[in-house]
Amino acid sequence: MSASRHIVRDEPPIFERSAPGKKGITLKKCDVEKVDPSRCIPSGMLRDEPVELPEVSEFEVVRHFTRLSQWNYGVDTGLYPLGSCTMKYNPKLNEEVASYPGFTRIHPMQDEGLCQGALELMYELQGMLGEISGMDAVSLQPAAGAHGELTGLLVISAYHRSRGNKKTKVIVPDSAHGTNPASSAITGYGVVQVPTKQDGVLTPEVVGKAMDEQVAALMITNPNTLGLFEGHIGEISHIVHDRGGLIYCDGANLNALMGVVKLGDTGVDVMHINLHKTFSTPHGGGGPGSGPIGVTKELEPFLPVPRIVKTQGGFRFDYDRPESIGRVMAFNGNFGVLVRAYAYILSLGAQGLLKCSQTAVLNANYIRERLKPHYHLPYDRLCMHECVFTDKKQRGLGVTTLDIAKRLIDYGFHPPTIYFPLIVQAALMIEPTESESRDEMDGFIEAMIEIAREAEESPELLKGAPHLTKVGRLDEVRAARQPRLRWKRGA
Ligand SMILES: *Cc1c(COP(=O)(O)O)cnc(C)c1O
Repeated sequence: MSASRHIVRDEPPIFERSAPGKKGITLKKCDVEKVDPSRCIPSGMLRDEPVELPEVSEFEVVRHFTRLSQWNYGVDTGLYPLGSCTMKYNPKLNEEVASYPGFTRIHPMQDEGLCQGALELMYELQGMLGEISGMDAVSLQPAAGAHGELTGLLVISAYHRSRGNKKTKVIVPDSAHGTNPASSAITGYGVVQVPTKQDGVLTPEVVGKAMDEQVAALMITNPNTLGLFEGHIGEISHIVHDRGGLIYCDGANLNALMGVVKLGDTGVDVMHINLHKTFSTPHGGGGPGSGPIGVTKELEPFLPVPRIVKTQGGFRFDYDRPESIGRVMAFNGNFGVLVRAYAYILSLGAQGLLKCSQTAVLNANYIRERLKPHYHLPYDRLCMHECVFTDKKQRGLGVTTLDIAKRLIDYGFHPPTIYFPLIVQAALMIEPTESESRDEMDGFIEAMIEIAREAEESPELLKGAPHLTKVGRLDEVRAARQPRLRWKRGA
């Protein structure tokens, strides 16, 4: 096996570079009188011993953290095919634009007359997202996809109550993202799970059977978590609307559809969009996200306040919305993410966004076709932005999805999403995005083919993987529950 692509040298804890007297910086002799700390700090808050800090030079500090940063695999390191997460390239231009002082130095409580540019940007972004999604009105407040779901369901609930209906449940297909049933439950709805059919999509028959007057909404992820377009959505919308229900679309996978389908045209009443996925904000590891929701005209009065409106005198916040569900976020959402999305949309333009989606779909199908002879493909049909394999061909050899994923790390690639969606046993869910070159995808495909061969010839190699990383296979549950974050001398 060739040397791993993206793994770097050993780096000990910085304490091991420490030696008494080494300094990062030399200051002039202090001309302020020394004070005994116990004279100004309450004794209970004083340390018994001075804190143990490493003594190192500035250059050593810079090198140490630069090297450590290289252990952290990211989109800028190599292919990051995490299905359902859309780990695309985040153009650096967006960062540049988001760091303009005019954006970073405004305060959310500033008078609206003094931040007209920011309001204009948000107003225009709402319009652009409305156009891309085919929805009439957009709120930028929700902080992430799941937060958008909650906001959307609160809007749906307020809508039904305003019409005197106390509906009690939400229909969620078994191929839905896990946040869908969770958001429904938090909103106070019962969850009715319905099965997807053999070909991986929801059918009108199944929805018809589950539908009654108590159903507030059907939540559908489109494209769904199998990477398949829910082609019956139009007919399904009619069935749900006929009995007084609404359609909530989880639009987190919009990267497959920009410029191709306006989900609003398919009968959707509410949807959320993940700006940090489709519109290129670096994400993962808990950074800020943004999950705007789009709604139809009928639902606009219920959107969170304040709404940003355009008047003759300029842009302003409108709080006078008696039917609004209220605020869902301090101030106006994660503004920096909105700026990045705005820059991204403007720099690509309508044709560019369409090309992104077309290329994302093409790339996923390229990987699907090339890996098909080597891995079991449970739904063998054209996919959208991601494809789902399983370990069925390798299982008999004692090799599982987890082993395959861990072995990929030795080949220098981040593993795909595994064991999700739940309706596929031992899934490997691969989303290359439009950003990846043919060359990078070929490298990934060759690694996957090589791993399939290893499974036949030397499965023990896979059971112990990864072999080339700083730490081997972690007990992930324990690592999450009892993380070792501190370095201790001699430990
Ligand atoms: C990522 C994702 C979500 C949740 O979005 P967050 O921003 O992580 O809250 C919901 N649904 C689908 C289909 C997703 O891919």
